Amino acid sequence: MGFSFEPVGQVHSCFREKFAIPRQPRLAPASTAVIELLPPYDQVEATEGLESSSHIWILFVFHAAPSGEAHLRVRPPRLGGNLKIGVFASRATHRPNSIGQSVVKLDAVQPGRLLISGHDLLHGTPVLDIKPYVPYVDSVANATNTLASSAPALIEVQWTPQALIQARDHASRLGQPVVELVEQCLAQDPKPAYQQPGPDRQYGAMFWDFNVTWHYPSGDRISVLALSSALA
Ligand code: SAH
Repeated sequence: MGFSFEPVGQVHSCFREKFAIPRQPRLAPASTAVIELLPPYDQVEATEGLESSSHIWILFVFHAAPSGEAHLRVRPPRLGGNLKIGVFASRATHRPNSIGQSVVKLDAVQPGRLLISGHDLLHGTPVLDIKPYVPYVDSVANATNTLASSAPALIEVQWTPQALIQARDHASRLGQPVVELVEQCLAQDPKPAYQQPGPDRQYGAMFWDFNVTWHYPSGDRISVLALSSALA
């Protein structure tokens, strides 16, 4: 039996490439996005009452995940990329039916659009459905997960003076918390766990319309080098 779904919306996100997006929502509260609702769900009736929720569930398509058949077992980055576990024991993006789900903060309900923050969604992500977060059912006080018992450790993020000035310029131009966004995302240490780069190796990722470059002056620290215009 097959099913077919049409998106109800599309995400306009601060995250312009997959690299450096947090591995779950709520890890970078400064990440923002607009969900543009598509007809007929762009009518105000579709979101009536939604402003009563502080958070919402987004069901979406991992449209930029590698195509091909999903594997039964995967190597989640969280476990260092070495240990394999069942696909249903992981939140891997390459999975049956390519469906993702994230709890995000709902900042505003506007006609035809939702403003959200604290998300993990790539720009252009197709949204399949939106539901209110209901604390008394969705928050399980005594729940456990022994493979992911607490938030991943953070790495220290420092700025070169020049990069900090550039970040503040982009922040005022865009009206977005750029310094916090970069700090919160890089503090998750985006590089694969098996890489141990020397100080000469540079990494980069695109947020909004700029590229951020950074390096690891020592294994336990990131230094942000520059924020350059991606359009230049
Ligand atoms: N909270 C979701 C997603 C977890 S995986 C869930 O549990 O189902 C999070 C990663 O998905 C991010 O780090 C990002 O790199 C990736 N991602 C986000 N949107 C995507 C998309 N549209 N296509 C492919 N990968 C995406």
